[in-house]
Amino acid sequence: MNLSGPEYVEVITNLPVDRAFQYKVTGRETFLPEVGKRVHILFNNAKRVGYIVGLEDVPQVEDPRPLVDVIDESPLFSPEMIELARWVKDNYFCSWGEALEAMIPGALKRGKTSMTTRVKEEEETVIPTDKHDPNDEQASVLGDINRCMDKGIHEVFLLHGITGSGKTEIYLQAMESTLAKGKSGIMLVPEISLTPQTVERFRSRFGTRVAVFHSGMLESARFNEWKRIKEGEARVVVGPRSAVFSPFSDLGLVVVDEEHEPSYKQDDTPRYHAREVAIERARISRAPVILGSATPSMESYHRAMTGEFKLVELTQRIDEKILPKVKLVDMRMEFETKVGQRVISAVMADALKRDIDKKQQALIFLNRRGFSTSATCRKCGYTVKCGKCDSPMVLHKEKSELICHYCNRRSKPVDICPECKEGQLMYRGTGTQKVEDELRKILPDARIARMDSDSMSKRGAHDKVLRAFKAHELDVIVGTQMIAKGLDFPKVTEVGVISADANLNLPDFRSGERTFDLITQVAGRAGRGDLGGEVIVQTFTPDHYAVAFAAKHDFHGFYEREINARRELMFPPYTHFVKITLRSRKEENAQASSEKLAETLKKKIKDIDIVGVAPSPMAKLRGYYRWNVILRAKDRPEIVIKLREGLKGFRKGSGVFMAVDVDPQTM
Ligand code: ADP
Ligand code: ZN
Repeated sequence: MNLSGPEYVEVITNLPVDRAFQYKVTGRETFLPEVGKRVHILFNNAKRVGYIVGLEDVPQVEDPRPLVDVIDESPLFSPEMIELARWVKDNYFCSWGEALEAMIPGALKRGKTSMTTRVKEEEETVIPTDKHDPNDEQASVLGDINRCMDKGIHEVFLLHGITGSGKTEIYLQAMESTLAKGKSGIMLVPEISLTPQTVERFRSRFGTRVAVFHSGMLESARFNEWKRIKEGEARVVVGPRSAVFSPFSDLGLVVVDEEHEPSYKQDDTPRYHAREVAIERARISRAPVILGSATPSMESYHRAMTGEFKLVELTQRIDEKILPKVKLVDMRMEFETKVGQRVISAVMADALKRDIDKKQQALIFLNRRGFSTSATCRKCGYTVKCGKCDSPMVLHKEKSELICHYCNRRSKPVDICPECKEGQLMYRGTGTQKVEDELRKILPDARIARMDSDSMSKRGAHDKVLRAFKAHELDVIVGTQMIAKGLDFPKVTEVGVISADANLNLPDFRSGERTFDLITQVAGRAGRGDLGGEVIVQTFTPDHYAVAFAAKHDFHGFYEREINARRELMFPPYTHFVKITLRSRKEENAQASSEKLAETLKKKIKDIDIVGVAPSPMAKLRGYYRWNVILRAKDRPEIVIKLREGLKGFRKGSGVFMAVDVDPQTM
C-alpha cells in the first residue's frame, strides 16, 4: 500500500500509438509520481521515457507492469500543456506522446535532467529604443487587448497592415502590458535569421527578460533558454514555430507575426500549424492572440470576415510615406524585341543605372539559387535530372558543379548529352548567380553582393553583408527570400523582381496567394526613406490577377477574387485537405499502397471525400517514389477521428512509409 501517492499511473510515450498505458507504482521510485513528470518504463523489454498523464487507484488491466522510476522531481508539463498536446493529436494526426514530446528540448526527450551548457555569456551591446506614443489606430487596438488581458478573455486580433504601419510597435507595447500584469508572452516569427531587426527591437525593450530561439541553435543553448523560461527568468520568448510550446505557467499574450507564412507548418510529425496551436494555447490560458501580416492568409482573413477574429486594419504607414509605385514589365515583349535570352529587361537595367548614378541602393530578388535551372539536350530534348529525385540538376558556376536542390547530390557539368551522346546541352533558366553576372555587366562600377544560401553558408556572412549595405559600402544586393523580409534600408529606392511567375506554375491551389504575398513583401523593401521608391516586376503573365492586384497594392481586391474561387471549388478555408503521402523505393509499391488505401478508406468510412490518388508533384525524392492520397473534409478533428478508424488494420505493404499531413501547406 502506497500512502503517499497514487497506486497506478497512466503513461504515454512517443510511439505512434493512440492510447495510454497503465503502470503500477512500486513505492521505490526516486520521486513521487505526479502528472506531467517523466518516467522510465519497460516497453517490449527496452527502457523508454514516458510521460505521466493521469493517476489512478484501480487497475485497468490485470496486474499492470511496474514503473522503472520517476525521472523528475517536479513536473515538466503543466496540465495546460498536456491538454494542448491532446488537442494537437486530435487535430494533426499523431499520438499524444508525439505531440507532448515536441514541446521539450532534445536532451529532455532522452531522459536527461540536466545539461552542461557551454553558452558563453556574451554581453551583446543592445541599444535601448524608446517606445513611441501610440497613434489613434494603435491606441485603440492596445486598449482592446488590455481589456482582454484584464478580464481574462481569449480573443484573436488580426492586424492587417502594410509594412511600416506600426504592427511591431503594437506587439511591443502589448507585450509590455503583459509583463506589467505579471504575465509572460510569446512572439512567434517565421524564421529568426530572416528577422534580425525584430529580435533586436525586442531585446532593446525587454533586455535579459527575452529568450530567443532559432533553428541553428546548439542543443545546449536551446536547453538553457528553455530552463530560463521554465524557471521564470525569461518572460518573453521570440522564436519560430516551436516557441509556441514555451513552458510558461502564466501566459498572457501570444503574437504571431507574418501569420500567413508557410514555415509555421511543421513538416515532420507532429505536423502542426503553429498559428492554430497558438490560438488553442491562448484559449486554454484565456489570453488574447495577435496575428499580424501585410498579406493575411485566406484562412485568417476569412475568419475575420465571419466575425470569429477581430479585424484591425492599419491603413497608413506611420510616417505617411506612400507605397512605392510598382511597374510591371511584360517579358513576352522583351523576348519579341530582343535577340537571345534576357534576364534583366531594358526597363530594369535603365532604372538601376539611374539609381546607382544618384548614389542610391537597389535590391534584386529572385527566389532561385544557382546559375541556370536546367540542362537540356538540343538534339534529343533530354533534361539532366538527379538520379534520386524527380528534379533537374542546377548548374552552379562558381563551384562548377551540377547540384540537386532537393538532396544536394552533385556531379560535374558536361557539354554533351549523357543520353543520346551527340547533342549539345543547353543550360537554360535563371538563378541568382546568373543575375549577379548580368548585373556586373550592366553596372560595371557598382558594388554588388549576392545573398543566398550558397553565398551565405559561412557563419556571420549574412550580418556582414547587411552591415556593409547599411554603411553604403555596397550598392546592390541580389538575393533569394533572404532579402524579401524585414530589411529596412532608407537608401533603397529600386527593388527588382526578376520573375514574378515562379510560383504561379506550381500545381498548388495556393500558388496565386503565394505570388501575391511575395510581390507585396518584396515591394515593401522599397521607398522606406525620404527618397521614395519604385518596384519593377518582370512577368510573363502581367494580367494574372495575383500579379495585377499586387502591383496595385490591393489586398482586398485580391482577397475577394481568391476567396470566391476557393468557395466555388470548395477549397480551404471552406474545407480542410488531408494529404497522405506513401513512399517506397519501388514505384509500383507506392502506387499499389495508395490505391489500396483509398479503397480501404472508401469501404470503411461513410461520406469520405477522396479528391485524388496520384503521384506527388515531386514524384521522386531522395530515392523514394511518392504517391499522394488527398482527402477533403469539413471539419478537422472529425476527419482525424475517421482516419484513425479507417487506418486501423491497414497494411501498407513492406518498404512503404506513410505520412499524414492535415492542412498541408504544399500539395
Ligand atoms: P510594421 O511592423 O508594421 O512594419 P513598425 O512597428 O516597425 O511597423 O513601425 C514602422 C516604423 O515606425 C518603425 O521605425 C517604428 O519605430 C515607427 N513607429 C511605430 N509606431 C510609431 C508611433 N506611434 N509614432 C512614431 N513612430 C512609430
Ligand atoms: Zn536529388
